Amino acid sequence: MNLVFLGPPGAGKGTLAAKAVDILGIPHISTGNIFRAAIAAGSPLGVKVKSILDSGKLVDDETTIGLVKERLAQADAQKGYILDGFPRTIPQAEALAAFSSVDKVVNFDIPDSGVLERLSGRRVCRSCGHNFHMVYDRPKKENICDYCGGEVYTRDDDREDAVRKRLEVYRAQTAPLIGYYRSKGLLLDVDARPAVEQVVENFRKAVQV
Ligand code: AMP
Repeated sequence: MNLVFLGPPGAGKGTLAAKAVDILGIPHISTGNIFRAAIAAGSPLGVKVKSILDSGKLVDDETTIGLVKERLAQADAQKGYILDGFPRTIPQAEALAAFSSVDKVVNFDIPDSGVLERLSGRRVCRSCGHNFHMVYDRPKKENICDYCGGEVYTRDDDREDAVRKRLEVYRAQTAPLIGYYRSKGLLLDVDARPAVEQVVENFRKAVQV
C-alpha cells in the first residue's frame, strides 16, 4: 500500500508512522528525517538545507522531489511506503503522481493548540529519528533513546518562532493538498487529537487494516 501522511507539524505523523510500519510492514520515509540525517552527517545536501530547516521554511521542490524519487526507487519501497512530510506543495504532489501511484492519503486533523502542546514537549533521537514527548512518552533514561541508545534532543525548529513559521508555511503551501487529494477521492480524515493508542485505532479504521 502506498500511503501519504498529511497534517500540520506536531500532528503526530512521525509517531503514527512508526506504529504503522509494524502494522503494515512497509518503510516509513520522512523527508524531514532524511534532511536532518544529511545535516548531522555534514553532507553537501546537509550544508545546503541546514539554515532552511532552522528557519522553518521549505526546501526547494526540485531538491526534495529528486530525493524522494531516488528513495522510492529502492528495493524496500517496492512493496509500499508511508510518506511522511512529502508532498508538502502542489508541485510536489504532481511530481509524485508522475513517478508513483498513491493509494490513500491520511489527513491527521488537529487544531493549532494541540500542535503547540505537542511540539513544545517533543524530543527526537539524533540517530534513529524516534519521537519522544516529555509528558506523554519520556525516554527511560534521560536524553538516551530507548531503541538505539542515541542522543535525544530538542529539534532547532521546535522553538516557538520556528513553529509559528512552520504553521504559517503549512497553511499557505501544504493545506491546499487536502482539497487536492479529496477531489481525487484519496483522502481519509483521522482525528489526531486523542492519545496515541486512540489515534492508532482511528487510523486502522480509516485505512481498514
Ligand atoms: P518535518 O520533520 O517533516 O517537520 O520537516 C522538517 C523540515 O524539513 C521542514 O520544516 C522543511 O524545512 C524540511 N522539509 C521536510 N519535508 C519537506 C518537503 N516535502 N518539502 C520541502 N521541505 C521539506
